[in-house]
This record gives sequence, structure tokens and C-alpha cells, in this order.
Amino acid sequence: MTSTPDTPRTDLLSLVPGELDTVLQRHFAERRQPSFRATQVREWVHDHGVSDFQAMTNLPQGERDALEARFFVEAPEAAQVSVSTDGTTKHLWQMRDGELIESVLIPTSDRLTLCLSSQAGCAMGCTFCATGWGGFGRQLTAGEIVAQFREAGRWARERGRGPITNVVFMGMGEPLANRKAVHPALTILNSGLGLGARRITVSTVGVVPGIRELASRPEQFGLAISLHSPEEALRAELIPLEKRHPLPELMDAIREFRDAGGRRITFEYTMIRDRNDAPELAPKLARMALDVGAFVNLIPFNPIPYQDWLPSRPDRVEHFRATLEEAGVAAAVREPRGRDIDAACGQLRANALVQLEDGKARRPRARAATSASGAEASAPSSASFSASSDG
Ligand code: SAH
Ligand code: SF4
Repeated sequence: MTSTPDTPRTDLLSLVPGELDTVLQRHFAERRQPSFRATQVREWVHDHGVSDFQAMTNLPQGERDALEARFFVEAPEAAQVSVSTDGTTKHLWQMRDGELIESVLIPTSDRLTLCLSSQAGCAMGCTFCATGWGGFGRQLTAGEIVAQFREAGRWARERGRGPITNVVFMGMGEPLANRKAVHPALTILNSGLGLGARRITVSTVGVVPGIRELASRPEQFGLAISLHSPEEALRAELIPLEKRHPLPELMDAIREFRDAGGRRITFEYTMIRDRNDAPELAPKLARMALDVGAFVNLIPFNPIPYQDWLPSRPDRVEHFRATLEEAGVAAAVREPRGRDIDAACGQLRANALVQLEDGKARRPRARAATSASGAEASAPSSASFSASSDG
């Protein structure tokens, strides 16, 4: 493999540990360098969070230059950092092609949770979600997913707020619609960067083949299901994917995941006034949660501008919580974090776009980089979540 200016460089952060070793060993063998050089580079990348080959000071200058010609380590710039009065911090990351994505750091008393994005935008089109309204931009690479953890973690550590203790895939995008990148990203976070599998939660709107695939992995990653309704017809009004993978099929896949053992399952239930908060739905939800041993997060809906839906009234939320508790289901009400910086679920994209569009609701294009006017460049997508789902 000869590197020329035309050879695309390989992102070392997108490689799982075994691949990383193989690629680096081959590289150094071709250059007649000792094989311990591969270990040196892996340690710089995985243990020390270094992205700049020139900072790898135990390598000869010529080797640093040769690495730079053939590889890179994904490290997006923070285009914007917003810190909420409650400590929640949102990073807007600019990718190499100009695409903008977000991650959100959520501190609680005993943990620092990172909510990260798996796609730029989302193709699922859920009616209550600002990311859904924004449409699909592109898939993120494994390196771009892992880089959010590395760069947000660096930001937190430098300010005495780190390290990140938990990761949830609840930012922009549907992680199980980007399995090609999400699977390696899970492996890199877990066995490369040393974050325990039980501290990593994948949230899905119900991509059944993806849930089964996750169940077949040996690591005990957590699974959050965005349920939002215990009834098929109602769920289909909120989540178009329900028609492709109806609730009975989804529950089968969740049971398979549970039977794989030792894994935490959470139901996310966004409570929308007079949409999915009828009292008779609560016992149905309880039965489903008991069936698979799921913890339930009740999340008051965050209004978005494209429709006039409102959050459920507090007494409805409390009724759901009490019904679940009486049935023996562990449940919590999650108040959105970081509201003042638009870091709560789906909000930032919504608010920014409304400003851009004179209050007129229309489906915006998700891509920022290709925008002729550049207007969308300041309208990034966001769907962060309200609190740690795996607590
Ligand atoms: N695509 C995945 C993960 C990202 S969405 C999924 O849907 O699970 C993260 C969470 O935010 C989901 O539970 C989603 O239902 C919720 N969410 C999206 N928009 C919301 C809103 N406007 N108010 C409250 N929760 C919202
Ligand atoms: Fe996509 Fe999740 Fe939003 Fe649905 S709720 S549109 S799957 S990000």
C-alpha cells in the first residue's frame, strides 16, 4: 500500500482494537519498523486521547510524518459549546464535510452521562421529534461517534467535570439504522476505551433486526426502547416504523434481548397531552414492562414548532407513575435537562429553525454543508434526552 495524495486516509478511530493493531502492524512492517511502534500508536490513540500524530513524541519524526500521510484520527472541532444553569453542556461538533451534530453532557450527583448522536438527522420521521422533522443528513462513521465521547470527555476533564461515566445513544439519529458504524463504535468505546458495557445504552425506536443483533453480542449493553404507546394503532400515529415492525414483533425481539441475560431494558415514554396519556393506557404499559422486566422513564413531551402538541398535565404523568409503581414496575419521571440552552429532547433544531423560517413550519433540509444560503448551517439537529436512562 503506497500512499499518494489521492489515497484516502484511514480514520484510526473508526477501527476496533484488533483491526487497529493489524493495520498499524502492517504499516510499520512495510516501513521496516519494529512492531512495538503499533502498540505505541494504539496507546496514544486509545489511552491518551491523542489525535495529532506530531504529538506522539516517542515516535521518530519520519514515522509521525508517514502516519500523517496515510491515516487520521477523527477529532471534530466544537463549533459551539452551551452550558446550562443546571450544568448540562451541549457541544455542537463540526464534521470534516461541514455537517453539524450534537452531543450533550448531563451531570448528576454520581455520574456524568454523555448523550451522543449516531446519525446527522434521522430518516424515521417520528411526528413528535424535531430530528424526525428535519429529515436525514447522512450516517456518521464509527470514528465520528467515538470522537464525540473523546472530545466531550476531554472538555469535561479539562474543567474538573470528567470523566464520562455513562453513554447513551439518544442524540440525533436512530442508532440501529446505522449498525455498520454503531457496532464498531460500541466495541471501541467498550474494549478500546474501557467504558463498561453496562454503562452504555443504545436507544431505538424499534428496529427489530438491530435489537436481535444486539442481543447476539456477548457484551451486556443496555437497551432503551422508545415505546411511547402500548397500543399499535396509536403508536403508528407517532412512529411510522410501527407499521413495519408492529408491537408484537418488537416485544418478541425485546424478550430475545432479555433472554440473552444480564442486560438492562428501559422503556422511554414521552407523554403528550391527550395523545398518549389516557389513563387506560397506563396498566397496558405496566403489563408490557413487567413482561420484559423493563424500567420505565416517563418524559414530559418537549413542544416542537411543527405541531401544536403539549406536554401531559402533571396529574396524568403522576397517574402513570403511580399505576406503574402499584403494578411493581420501577419507573421515574424525567424532567428535561438543559432547557435554557435548548439541550432537551428535540428542541434545539426546532427553535433554531423557527427563527430561520419566520415561524412558518415546514420540513427543513437536514444537510447544512450543501445549503446554498448557508442558513441551515446555524440550524443543527438535536434530540437529547432528559436524564440518564440506565440509573
Ligand atoms: N432514535 C432513537 C434515539 C434518539 S431519540 C430513539 O428514538 O430511541 C432520543 C429520545 O428522545 C427518544 O426516546 C425520543 O422518543 C425522545 N424524544 C424525541 N423528541 C422528543 C420530544 N419532543 N419530547 C420528548 N422526548 C422526545
Ligand atoms: Fe429518529 Fe428517534 Fe427522533 Fe424517531 S425519536 S425521529 S427514531 S431520533
